[in-house]
Amino acid sequence: TIITRFAPSPTGNIHIGNIRTALYSWLFARKHKGLFILRFEDTDIKRCTTKSKKEILNVLKWLGLTWDKGPFYQSDRLKYYKKLINLMLKTGNAYKCYCSTDRLLKLRQSQIIKKEKTRYDGQCRNILNVKKMGLPFIIRFKNPTVGYVIFEDEIKGLIKINNNELDDLVIQRSNGMPTYNFCVVADDIDMNITHVIRGEDHISNTPRQINIYKALKQPIPKYVHLSMILDANGKKISKRENSEHIIKYYNEGYLPEALLNYIVRLGWSYGNKEIFSLQEMQNLFSLKSITGSSSRFNIKKLVSLNRYYIKNLSLNNLVKYLNIYLLKNKINVQNGPCLLDIIDLVRNKCNTLTDIISVCNYFYRDNINLKLINCEKNLTNESIIPLKIIFSCLNNLNNWNIIQINKIIFNLPQILGIKIQKIGMPLRIAVTGTNISASIDKIIFYIGKKRTLYRIKQALI
Ligand code: GLU
Repeated sequence: TIITRFAPSPTGNIHIGNIRTALYSWLFARKHKGLFILRFEDTDIKRCTTKSKKEILNVLKWLGLTWDKGPFYQSDRLKYYKKLINLMLKTGNAYKCYCSTDRLLKLRQSQIIKKEKTRYDGQCRNILNVKKMGLPFIIRFKNPTVGYVIFEDEIKGLIKINNNELDDLVIQRSNGMPTYNFCVVADDIDMNITHVIRGEDHISNTPRQINIYKALKQPIPKYVHLSMILDANGKKISKRENSEHIIKYYNEGYLPEALLNYIVRLGWSYGNKEIFSLQEMQNLFSLKSITGSSSRFNIKKLVSLNRYYIKNLSLNNLVKYLNIYLLKNKINVQNGPCLLDIIDLVRNKCNTLTDIISVCNYFYRDNINLKLINCEKNLTNESIIPLKIIFSCLNNLNNWNIIQINKIIFNLPQILGIKIQKIGMPLRIAVTGTNISASIDKIIFYIGKKRTLYRIKQALI
């Protein structure tokens, strides 16, 4: 069976690039009826936060990227790493290094001055430091000094590194904590990972990691290093920078369907096909069709996909997503027309769920922010008379229905000899507080008589 994993370091906000890694790993496992594992790489205690862990879990759940095993936390697995490191010390694949940080710093500086590659010189590699026992130490992997590491990356192709370019990797810090490069291998072995799918920023770690597999006589997984995603300015998307965080898209009302559809296409394609359901992605996904070049983030594409899904998802599904936003915005849909009617009425004009929410404001709140009304441009003397007439006609309307409302509004221009815009726009602003909305007769119908009259009256004051 194929086993993949998503192994985030919970050190910051999860971004588009992280999710693409998760999505590709997930799709590949699902397509091949394999397993997808979630594992938090949190041994760097200083940088990992509970908040980030929670966010990652929430985002994966929100997007529907379900995992079959885990979440595992490396911080829970320290005993296992210790055991393995002790084994490596015994078999001579690792050694204790007592070099002081001061010495290492000086070594590094002298190498920089000499324009050499900065690397550990192996001072503690072959000596038994009996005298230093009891002093603080780190543990290093004994990297082979001769030969090559050769591997075939599924995307980048054949990669060949001379071992003399690699120094002895630290696998345990002086505080006793194992390091990322070691834990990743220890876990991928223990979890029987067959395909390591991750960002190309890890490709330089791979030869070192492969050497650890070899030392432990374990089968080496296949590697799939994904090219970078660049933001709109051509800069690499990263965790630290405030760019393209998934939470932002959640807050702004993007749909999981749209986001996943957008993300899957950042580096993978299937002919010219643009729209993919999750099921289609699973069926069509293949590593072969992943591009080796970097992709560029394009918000316009994402918006247009979101628009597409808002238009085409079932009303019930949309309501399911919308509920959280309604709650957050304290909008009570009992206090107005049927929500399904409203969504149906406005969704063609909405880019995001938050657009729908701002529409909901004027259907479900008694008091809306009517500041815009007083835009003098919109409420000139010219529009006061038509508004007054509409007010009294609507007021006299006993049977509140769209046909009658339509007549009242759309017959008026002819009667008064003015253009419909002179009536439509001020009316729209008066009852909705915005200058964009679906057809005004329907809007007024759903807002209801009481609120409509009240708002027009307010506008006329
Ligand atoms: N923990 C690493 C990261 O968040 C990923 C390591 C891996 O996938 O091998 O970037």
